[in-house]
Amino acid sequence: MNYRGRFAPSPTGLLHAGSLVAAVGSWLCARHAGGQWLLRVEDIDPPREVAGSAAAILAALPAFGLIADGPVIYQSSRMAAYDAAFEQLRQTGLLFPCWCSRTDLATANGLHRDGHCVAPADLDRPPAWRIRVPDESIHFTDALQGPQSQSLRDAVGDFVIRRVEGFYSYQLACVVDDAWQGISDVVRGNDLLDSTARQIWLQRCLSLPTPRYLHLPLVLDSQGRKLSKSERSREIDPADPLPSLRRALSFLGMEPDAGARDAAGLLNAALAHFNPQHLPQCSDHHVA
Ligand code: GLU
Repeated sequence: MNYRGRFAPSPTGLLHAGSLVAAVGSWLCARHAGGQWLLRVEDIDPPREVAGSAAAILAALPAFGLIADGPVIYQSSRMAAYDAAFEQLRQTGLLFPCWCSRTDLATANGLHRDGHCVAPADLDRPPAWRIRVPDESIHFTDALQGPQSQSLRDAVGDFVIRRVEGFYSYQLACVVDDAWQGISDVVRGNDLLDSTARQIWLQRCLSLPTPRYLHLPLVLDSQGRKLSKSERSREIDPADPLPSLRRALSFLGMEPDAGARDAAGLLNAALAHFNPQHLPQCSDHHVA
């Protein structure tokens, strides 16, 4: 399979040092493999969306030398595909409507493991839709983090595919679009390592291929906490891209070229020395 990577930001804030590392890391891996690098805006969660942030992220990326091959995909325009996947899952008999509240689930550590809803059906209220998970572990090998195994039943439980408000979950939309865009390699932050078993389970249920996965170390703040767009922390300045691009490259274990004059020059110099085998497995220093 030809290498096809992607960067898939959610428009919940501006690009920050952590998302820049994911963008640069996925770009380097794709270019190193002679493959394509695609962009997807994951705008399927209107309550969490920050107005103008999708446009700001897309405008910032070229300033850092990151230019996608092909048009940007917006998940908000892909509802028909998610409806079709939902219907396909429903026909397998794996989905069930769920009216459970947090209190209903409290006795099971907040997890839903029964394969059916434990609350009484309430026809006046729309349900969430969950998928039953198998009673066996999902195994996969992450290209950087090594062999992984997760029991969905113990770690996640029957998980939500469509929320009460009618929004599809990130897990479903991500799996449908990774397949539709022909993504061979998913390179993203380590915070999503935990989602991968759920995504592999959905790929199996939908008869979709499983891409290779590589989870990059997470950029942490000075207190060791994950940076998050929604906290509006660590915004970076596309008008002055070199300092944050240099920090992102050194976070990825590279020595940024001191002489580069612009972002594209700096990225290409990094690419010439890049080796995915030399990426650091975990964050041993902070950026930003
Ligand atoms: N949209 C997710 C985020 O911004 C990333 C999803 C992914 O790379 O699979 O955290």
